[in-house]
Amino acid sequence: MSDYLIKALDKTKNLRLLTITAKDLVQEAQTRQDTWSASSAVLGRTLIAGVLLAGAELSDKEELTLRLLGDGPVGATVVTAQSNLTVKGYVKNPHIALPSKKAGHIDVKSAVGSGWLQVTKDLGLKEPYTGEVPIVSGEIAEDVAYYLTKSEQIPSAVGLSVFVNPNNTIGEAGGFILQALPGASDSLIDQTINRINELPALSTSFLAGMTPEDLARKILGTDCKILTKDEVAFKCDCSRKKYTELLRTLKSSELKAMITEDHGAELTCNFCSQQYQFTQEQLQNILDQKLN
Ligand code: ZN
Repeated sequence: MSDYLIKALDKTKNLRLLTITAKDLVQEAQTRQDTWSASSAVLGRTLIAGVLLAGAELSDKEELTLRLLGDGPVGATVVTAQSNLTVKGYVKNPHIALPSKKAGHIDVKSAVGSGWLQVTKDLGLKEPYTGEVPIVSGEIAEDVAYYLTKSEQIPSAVGLSVFVNPNNTIGEAGGFILQALPGASDSLIDQTINRINELPALSTSFLAGMTPEDLARKILGTDCKILTKDEVAFKCDCSRKKYTELLRTLKSSELKAMITEDHGAELTCNFCSQQYQFTQEQLQNILDQKLN
């Protein structure tokens, strides 16, 4: 298991922590969408945030979608994570690289810009629930913490890290979400936040081989209790059937245009770049079924 998420509690059981290593997952997204450094950092951090939130908040067959709607060059970023800790996501503009703020530090804030962070949860109820906060930082971790604190009233600290190699492959990726449970005292929270503030840069530590368990002990103390360890992965749930359904929802005139003008259709999944080809005959079948 190379990518995984762990859940841990501090010894007083008033702080809950999730930590994750996700290099392969972010690498798969990078490869599928051919993202450049700034796009990889934005997409990777949002993917990690999605899995962490799914681990923290979802149960059986639920899903959540993060939409980072900034006015920066990367454009909208959309990530959907499932309760089984699989995740998919894309950025509107994959080919964004920006000058480093300092050596090896990607300017994620400028890549994201200002706008809104939306979190939609589909908990199997009639209507999915959406919470929204302004993008307060653009570094994504602080924005997710702000969302949790403001919109869900859960005092939280979040760290997200993606290191992009000079050849655009992913060197490391990981992060954490710390949540204060109702019994947590101010002194316990302060002490823990101090420990987080004193941590070296996450990317440096992950590159040096830090595991999610190591990170949990650094944040919660060596006497923390690790509860679960689960595999995480990039996974898209698209299928030919799904795209056939989508075509069926088009107006007959649009389908006719695809048949007579384009002589077929090629649809590409935003999330995983899988292509689905439909021939003229296949489109005609869909149109016939629609008209009957
Ligand atoms: Zn797909």
